[in-house]
Order: sequence, then C-alpha cells, then structure tokens
Amino acid sequence: MPFTKKPTPQNQATLNLLKKLIDLQKIENQITTLKREIQNLPNQRLVIEKRREDLEINLENSRKQMRHIELEKKSLELEVKSKQQLIQRYREQQAKTRKNEEFQALNHEISLVQAEIVKLEDRELELMEEAENLKPHLQKADADYKAGLQEIQEQLIALDYKKDSLQKLLSDLQNKRSENLSSLETDLAENYERLLKTKNGLAIARLHNDVCRGCWMKVPRETALLVEACTEIVTCPNCGRILTPFD
Ligand SMILES: [Zn+2]
Repeated sequence: MPFTKKPTPQNQATLNLLKKLIDLQKIENQITTLKREIQNLPNQRLVIEKRREDLEINLENSRKQMRHIELEKKSLELEVKSKQQLIQRYREQQAKTRKNEEFQALNHEISLVQAEIVKLEDRELELMEEAENLKPHLQKADADYKAGLQEIQEQLIALDYKKDSLQKLLSDLQNKRSENLSSLETDLAENYERLLKTKNGLAIARLHNDVCRGCWMKVPRETALLVEACTEIVTCPNCGRILTPFD
C-alpha cells in the first residue's frame, strides 16, 4: 500500500479500480498459462502412446523370433522324416537285390543320408537352445508389456482427468474475467482489452523506482508522482500501459 496517510474518497476509488485491474491481469496470466497447458496435452498423450507402441513392437519382435525358430524346427523335422523314409526305401531295395555291388552302393547312399540327418539334427539342437535362450526375453517382453499397458492406461485416465480439470478451471477463470471486466467503465475496459492485445498480454504494469515494469523505461518524475498519489488512472508515457504503485 503506498499510503501512510488516510486515503481520500478519490484515492479510495482509484485504489479500488487499480486493485480490480491488477486482479484482472492476474486472471489473464492464469488463463494464458492454462491455455498453454491445455495445448500441450495432446503432446503428452502422444508421448504416452509412443511408449505403448514401443512395448508392442518389442513384444512382437520377440514373438516373431520365436515363431521363426519354431518354423525352422518344424521344417527340419519334416526333412529328417523324409530322409528316414529314403533310408527305409534303400533298405527295402537292399533286401531285394542279389548283387553285391548294388548292395554296397546302397550302403554308401544310406551312410550319406545318415550323415545329412546328423547335420539336420545338430541344427535342430541349436534351434532348441536358441529357443531356450529366447524364452526369458519373451517372458520379460510380455511382462513389460502387461505392466506397461496397465501404467499407460492409468496415465491416459489421469491425462483425461487433468484435461477436464484444466478446462473447468479455464472456464471458471473466463467467467470471472468477464464479470470483472463488465464491472469496469466501458472506456477503461476497452482500453484494458486493447492494451492486452497490443502489449503482449500485459496491460497493467507496476511502477517501481520510477521504472515501468512493462517496458522497463524510466518515466518522468511528475508521472511517478501522479501514480503514487493514486488520484487517477495513469498510463506509461512510453508504452501506454496502466501504471500501478503496487502489485
Ligand atoms: Zn511502460
């Protein structure tokens, strides 16, 4: 409060007006902050949804690897089976033949196929080991996905709640703003709104040590005295903002 002496009715009227204007400016600032926060909500949602996608991709990759191993294992099993049938056929041919040469040739074929089967079975063992190693990764990806999904769900609900709360707060502030604004005289209200638009959202500025905190310029002493006297609304000669001796 700039007064040590008892305010006159004129002081009191100006003081009341200034208080109202300062209040309005505070509401304005809160509205700006709220709008910015609300505008930023879709970005927050995107960040959360990106995390869900990452978890899904991680799980799907582990599953794909596992499917790939299983498919290769199945195809190896089929190959082994068909080679065993081939050996079976060779043995039947051996049983029928009386020629020693042919018998020996078939033996040779059989040992070749058997060697191939050993290779295939080795690969099968390798694949089984790969599957065993992959299992904990798959389980972890699955657990991460489930836990992450739960958390993400909660974050999305919290975000919706935040959006509702912010919007409610914004609409309350906007109502309060209209109410306060309509209680001002038309000229002053219009000047205030014009200043808000042209002065980067700041219509009311504190005068401190003769410096306007809106444009940071020193005002003439007589202007400063007028502001301190609080008998009328005074504007900054440089930026045009409404000056107050307090905030
Ligand atoms: Zn100024």
